[in-house]
Amino acid sequence: MPDARLAPVAGAPNVAPVDRLGRPLRDLRISVTDRCNFRCVYCMPKEVFGSDYQFLERKELLTFEEIARLARLFAGLGVEKVRLTGGEPLVRRNLEQLIEMLAAIPGLDLTLTTNGSLLTRKAAALKRAGLKRVTVSLDSLDDAVFMQMNDVDFPVSRVLDGIDAAAAAGLAPIKINMVVKRGLNDASIVPMARFFRERGHILRFIEYMDVGHTNGWRMDDVVSAREIVERIGQVMPLEPADPNYRGEVAERWRYRDGGGEIGVIASVTQAFCRDCTRMRVSTEGKLYTCLFATAGHDLRALLRGGASDAEIVREIGTIWSGRSDRYSEIRTAATAKLQKIEMSYIGG
Ligand code: SAM
Ligand code: SF4
Ligand code: SF4
Repeated sequence: MPDARLAPVAGAPNVAPVDRLGRPLRDLRISVTDRCNFRCVYCMPKEVFGSDYQFLERKELLTFEEIARLARLFAGLGVEKVRLTGGEPLVRRNLEQLIEMLAAIPGLDLTLTTNGSLLTRKAAALKRAGLKRVTVSLDSLDDAVFMQMNDVDFPVSRVLDGIDAAAAAGLAPIKINMVVKRGLNDASIVPMARFFRERGHILRFIEYMDVGHTNGWRMDDVVSAREIVERIGQVMPLEPADPNYRGEVAERWRYRDGGGEIGVIASVTQAFCRDCTRMRVSTEGKLYTCLFATAGHDLRALLRGGASDAEIVREIGTIWSGRSDRYSEIRTAATAKLQKIEMSYIGG
């Protein structure tokens, strides 16, 4: 059956693809740079991402025109939401120009995940370019803990200034992401919940994941979503809330006194592969069907090799139709050691 929602591409099938587990393609994460001004210990540990680390060269990155073309074609395949990420997306020069190009694609919900370090300077321009909202990552309110995690001595206050700038610019609602690693920042769970509840931003706790193969992940370091909810609930009682839509990765919990909500992303302890409708494009234009993939599909070669829109759409549709990924459901200590792509490269 033709799908009326789709903006058809001449010569390509006007049907939204489903994968081998019956999942439609709905959202896309695009990594715009593999570089970052932080060295979070769980993502880009300094021992690996040191001064001699070879980041991608400029000519290897997808251009803004290439990214916008892909986004338009993905929208034609049923993608409704695009999230820009990285590395740190705001270190990519003139990102506002890309935002403007993507914001012009009809029906696309556009957002961005950032470490917040450059938001004070950039929030207003991002908003002017057409960005609607942002997610800001912040792992603690305690400077000593936060600096130990970002490993570049970046103070909490500057991220909070960035969050305020985003709110002032109207980039709302603002979501805050906190990755929890046992023994490192789990004492920050309750203070973070209290702080952001008072400010009306939605805090989402993310279980520490075995992405990439450089962060030395161990199951013992994971604080489960359940434990997080229990710890907060003991001081500020919580009750479950319904998901906003099918496939929402964060499980929602509401404060019983009506004081807002939190989210928990239980990617390790309660896999949500069943509802995973997401594809990822890396900085150099490789397409991945899973965050834990070990190999991608080269879209850049198609883009630069003169492929037509219809050919690219057909290729993406074929890749999605053949997809059977469900890594989180089958994770074991052995799979955690696989040579998976790095989070900073694929963008989370
Ligand atoms: N630099 C931006 C930032 O930090 O928000 C965007 C890219 S970052 C890779 C995207 C998200 O992935 C961040 O919220 C980050 O905390 C999260 N992340 C990185 N490594 C992770 C890990 N090992 N487990 C869980 N989340 C992780
Ligand atoms: Fe950079 Fe984000 Fe990874 Fe931290 S989580 S190192 S800010 S890309
Ligand atoms: Fe989706 Fe792969 Fe994560 Fe499962 S493990 S939710 S398939 S990205």
